[in-house]
Amino acid sequence: MKLLEGKNVIITGASRGIGTGIAQVFADHGANVAFTYSSSEAPALALEKELTAKGVKAKAYKSNAASFSDSEALVASVLEDFGGVIDVLINNAGITKDNLLMRMSEEDFDSVIDINLKSVFNMTKAVQRTMLKQRKGSIINMSSVVGVKGNAGQTNYAASKAGMIGFTKSVALELGSRNIRCNAIAPGFIETEMTDKLDAKVVQGWRDGIPLKRGGSTEDIANACLFFASDLSAYVTGQVLNVDGGMLT
Ligand code: NAP
Repeated sequence: MKLLEGKNVIITGASRGIGTGIAQVFADHGANVAFTYSSSEAPALALEKELTAKGVKAKAYKSNAASFSDSEALVASVLEDFGGVIDVLINNAGITKDNLLMRMSEEDFDSVIDINLKSVFNMTKAVQRTMLKQRKGSIINMSSVVGVKGNAGQTNYAASKAGMIGFTKSVALELGSRNIRCNAIAPGFIETEMTDKLDAKVVQGWRDGIPLKRGGSTEDIANACLFFASDLSAYVTGQVLNVDGGMLT
């Protein structure tokens, strides 16, 4: 069964990792996918080709999620290219700039907050008018278990991810009466290219500490997004779903 047949979806930061996984699963479910990248042009164009070959409309846009004007321009372009309807927004773009608070620069704090959190304000505001007119929409924010429980060495990242949760719940309250839902996903340890670079023993230690005894895949996160994007979750808003193999249990 295709759960998103003909739906138009925007995913920020889909040139790699979790965003790419979401785009692939969504295209398999019949969604048209508009997605962004900030610098990884080659993989973004390769993904655009791959998704188009699945028989859906797909387009990559270079757009800095931290920029308010880029986000407004992006949404205007998507509306023009995809027939004026936006059914789903996934705020997925994110970065880390880890350091102990003692050594963290103001610049590294600000850039993580801007790319991870302010981006969510930028993009949600940019799609809001369209979703209000449609009286329908689903917004999904990619938080993290770190935003729920904190993490030493990640004050900037944890603050951005916790901020996304407050934003999610507030948007759910503001827009629920117009049938616009807003939920967050809190992934645990997801094995992407980023984690491939880590020491194998350290990674095994993390896996051993997870009740399900494995790291998550990008597909695990994409499937949770599929639930929030589709009518399977028609009566769910303002929630945070931990997709972490039981890590926070
Ligand atoms: P990733 O592999 O590093 O990919 C990040 C994506 O975001 C890339 O496509 C990147 O594109 C894009 N991006 C970065 N800065 C951007 C900007 N300013 N504007 C637009 N796009 C930008 O990360 P990931 O592991 O897939 O993580 C995706 C999301 O899940 C992030 O929000 C992350 O915090 C969250 N998360 C990940 C994990 C995990 O274990 N992997 C756990 C919890 C939460 P460019 O290369 O073009 O910059």
